[in-house]
Amino acid sequence: MKEALFWSQEKEGVRCELCPHHCFLREGKVGLCGARKVRDGRLVSLNYARVAGMAVDPIEKKPLFHFYPGARIFSVGTVGCNLRCPFCQNAGLSRFFDDYHGDIEEIDEISVESLVALVERSGGEKMVAYTYSEPVVWYEYVLEAMRACREKRIKNVVVTNGFIESRPLEGWVPFLDAANVDLKSFQQEGYKKLGGSLDPVKRTIQRLFEAGVHVEVTTLVVPGVSDSLEAMEALSSWLSSLSPEIPLHLSRYFPHYHYHEPPTTLDLLHRMREVATKHLFHVYIGNVVEDASTFCPGCGKILIRRSGYLVERVGLHGGKCSHCGRSLWGRYED
Ligand code: SF4
Repeated sequence: MKEALFWSQEKEGVRCELCPHHCFLREGKVGLCGARKVRDGRLVSLNYARVAGMAVDPIEKKPLFHFYPGARIFSVGTVGCNLRCPFCQNAGLSRFFDDYHGDIEEIDEISVESLVALVERSGGEKMVAYTYSEPVVWYEYVLEAMRACREKRIKNVVVTNGFIESRPLEGWVPFLDAANVDLKSFQQEGYKKLGGSLDPVKRTIQRLFEAGVHVEVTTLVVPGVSDSLEAMEALSSWLSSLSPEIPLHLSRYFPHYHYHEPPTTLDLLHRMREVATKHLFHVYIGNVVEDASTFCPGCGKILIRRSGYLVERVGLHGGKCSHCGRSLWGRYED
């Protein structure tokens, strides 16, 4: 447990200012995320250094397709989330505190120093992803880990819902190399069903992009939440106003947790991709068994062939198309 950052004292309690929920909490109460509590008049982080899962994953699993393709990235996560998606694929972690009545004392504590040592010994490339549940509600630990990793030239990646206030985001920005941001819907009604709102997530994506962080965006295409072609048109058009190079991953939904609609049809995913590729160069379909290769936006030749997590660079050298010389947006070894 550690004193939290970003909160203020109010007359009868405290106000958490980490995410746009701005929870007001009296003594002993816990925020919507389950991970922050008022103790002795101070806001504390309950999940500080509590590591609920870690593994070395293919970077494509994050998903990041234009950030050192083929790399293996040390991935680490905790429990808790500040959204309440009824179809959450990781509810055992995200809803640990409420639905699963978990006891945080039963989760291993791993200091920042130990985490850095684990990343260095992992056998993967020198990269770490804060993922699995929502890194925003693990803010203090993630910030300290990012600082320590940067000192050791380990790259920092977040896989996040982007539902964070501007000030705390600025704390992360100097240490962040890449982010995959979940843009869950481009309609306010869609976000309402998840207990969030659209504008803060757009603000996060824009800020990260403008700060030079490598950004990719994922939208899980969920019936009744994010399955509107008009909304996809608006989403991809907005994203292309930042840059048409930003990769967009359209992920197939399967029934899970409290959501029982049938899986997204392949036909809808293909139509969504068709709409999005009017605005964006790189649109991928995920959670399906099909080709997800990268093509040169200049000459159309294949640059990176992907089959599942097998990645082969077939026409990319030094980050450029070996046929026409056009640069491929992203980060690649020299
Ligand atoms: S981080 Fe948690 S406690 Fe803080 S405002 Fe968001 S949901 Fe509430």
